[in-house]
Amino acid sequence: MDEQNPLDRTELKRQARAHLQSLRLAGVEWLPAADAPAILADEPTTHHSPLTTHQPEDRRQALKLLAQEVSGCRKCSELVSTRTQTVFGDGGPAVELCFVGEAPGADEDAQGLPFVGAAGQLLNKIIAACGFQRSEVYICNIIKCRPPGNRTPLPNEAANCRGFLDRQLELVKPKFICALGSCAAQNLLNSTLALGKLRGKFHDYKGIPVLCTYHPAYLLPHRNPDKKKDVWEDMKKLLARMGKPIPQKS
Ligand code: URA
Repeated sequence: MDEQNPLDRTELKRQARAHLQSLRLAGVEWLPAADAPAILADEPTTHHSPLTTHQPEDRRQALKLLAQEVSGCRKCSELVSTRTQTVFGDGGPAVELCFVGEAPGADEDAQGLPFVGAAGQLLNKIIAACGFQRSEVYICNIIKCRPPGNRTPLPNEAANCRGFLDRQLELVKPKFICALGSCAAQNLLNSTLALGKLRGKFHDYKGIPVLCTYHPAYLLPHRNPDKKKDVWEDMKKLLARMGKPIPQKS
């Protein structure tokens, strides 16, 4: 970058300001003065001013900025080299319920949206059985890139993506979280307990109640369809805790 070129300086300022704004909307209220980019010195200062914008529209905007930032992430070299695109999330802020899965699969990698393949069709049915539209919930994954061959995300991949997930959930601010499968449950809760020990109970993520259940892919016809009834029992617990009516199963 040519430091003397005013266009480069302008672009750098724009990017730095966008990044600060996304941090700010994600809840970062203060930055040490030493970390403030010198290039912003002639701009009105944003640090040392309390966060004032918590409106859903601001958070929607901040989610967009965060999705852009995620799309440029190159921390996991293997995933960067095999992904078609990053898969950030589906839905908007201020929802009551957020589902967190493991990682995008082939369909999600192709479409750029989480849970759009076979497991996604089953998740849609679970969401509908609970009395929600898909658009009324938020859906995301522990990691935002497809692992090759759909392998389980590696611990360093989950760690690399953790900041994005935390900022995403901070912006979505769901009242309840449902973790789908052991990878999501263990990573979200920083637990090594088996899913069998975690599921069916409420746990805590930064003050948000988390219910863990089986991953929809585990329930597919060629795997363990008999476990669908256990998921329904878990969902009934979640709905009861949310103060929602339990729809009769058709
Ligand atoms: N499985 C997941 O965990 N997430 C997706 O988005 C799709 C399949």
